[in-house]
Amino acid sequence: MALSGIQIYKMLPKTNCKECGFPTCLAFAMKLAAKQVELSACPHVSEESKAQLAESSAPPVRLVTLKSNGYQAAAGNEVVLFRHEKKFFHMPGLFIRVKDDLTSEQIKAKLAPAEAYEVDYVGLELTLDGFAVESVTGDAAAFATAVQAVNAVSHRPLILMSSDPDVIAAGLAAADCEIPLICAADGDNWEAMAGLAKEHKAALVVNGRTLDELADLTEKIKATGVEDLVLNPIGDNLSQRLALSTQIRRLALKKNFRALGYPLFVAPMDGEDIAYQSILAAQGIAKYGGFVVIDYFAPELAYPLLVLRQNIYTDPQKPIQVQPGLYEINDPTPESPVLVTTNFSITYFSVANEVDGSGLPAWLLVTEAEGMSVLTAWAAGKFDAERIAKDVKRFNVADKVANKRIVLPGHTAVLSGELEEELPGWEIKVGPREAVDIPAFMKQVLA
Ligand code: SF4
Repeated sequence: MALSGIQIYKMLPKTNCKECGFPTCLAFAMKLAAKQVELSACPHVSEESKAQLAESSAPPVRLVTLKSNGYQAAAGNEVVLFRHEKKFFHMPGLFIRVKDDLTSEQIKAKLAPAEAYEVDYVGLELTLDGFAVESVTGDAAAFATAVQAVNAVSHRPLILMSSDPDVIAAGLAAADCEIPLICAADGDNWEAMAGLAKEHKAALVVNGRTLDELADLTEKIKATGVEDLVLNPIGDNLSQRLALSTQIRRLALKKNFRALGYPLFVAPMDGEDIAYQSILAAQGIAKYGGFVVIDYFAPELAYPLLVLRQNIYTDPQKPIQVQPGLYEINDPTPESPVLVTTNFSITYFSVANEVDGSGLPAWLLVTEAEGMSVLTAWAAGKFDAERIAKDVKRFNVADKVANKRIVLPGHTAVLSGELEEELPGWEIKVGPREAVDIPAFMKQVLA
């Protein structure tokens, strides 16, 4: 039963100490009632109140974490429907599926490139999260062999897929994974599947075609002591899946309907081709998927999905930033020019990649602009002559160069006069407006 803000307030210390980041205990209580903060933000709640508040303050979508050999894939703990309201916290795990009618050698050959895949995106290292093994033979021994073949290639979290509890039991015995995800319990097998999940401390997917079916099953399974559940709302097409996923998330967040307060599972069904699977995965990433499975691996498929995920789960109020400082590109010397940009990641990497690609040495001064791009920062007063000059001094740029040439981004040519005043003795140049024109500019103007 959800408590109101006033009911929660009565259980808080009422000292208004502000350590939770709110001016009063009442303000904190209101946020707690709205599930927008966690109880742990108040360090002074008594143990007695903690116990009473635990249910009320529990996140509306349970956090489910798969663990394996130091890797984790966590989903849940979300508190908003739309990321512009606050942010989404746990990126959905991306899993590649293999089926147990492949030989061990075929499984290894299929999964090795996916396991090794690692891509740099604006300074972040993106990888896949794990692998799913599905039984299509119905044979427990074949399934166990397939699981072992996957573990020969990867130690990441596993999803074990079969409707037969005996097959799942064989997979669990073979798996090198502390907390795998069993897929799935349904109206026929739920007792046996819940027993396996409990015995192996695994998380459990629950299949259902309707909200009632899902809620009924989660209640029954929870009563057995298994709490780490993941919902698989089965729809015949993208539209049905989207509708069910959205209804589940709304009921969990807006109505605090605990029976559907779990992360969602998204996996293709038999016969769905690579194009359909790509769209399904993208839809799952955008709309509430917690664990997303696809049957294919190719860099050109994985990269857009990983980048989409990264962008959706980035706090929209906090742009991705790089550390301000003086960066060296192509081994600059004291004769090399200094180019200036801001610390918005995408801006930094666009400029740095072009300078790098030019093959010419340069210093890149990345100024503190609160993660904004050049034009936005300039318009917001975060990228001006005074700030640039301040960072020239802060990062001791004058000590590194003999040839005092500094290049402003073309869009901020208007700053050159002021910068000359701020940096006497420096030659101020105006670079191109677009990063793509930097190599030609460096060759023609700076070489
Ligand atoms: S930290 Fe706790 S006691 Fe202090 S203001 Fe916040 S809710 Fe009140």
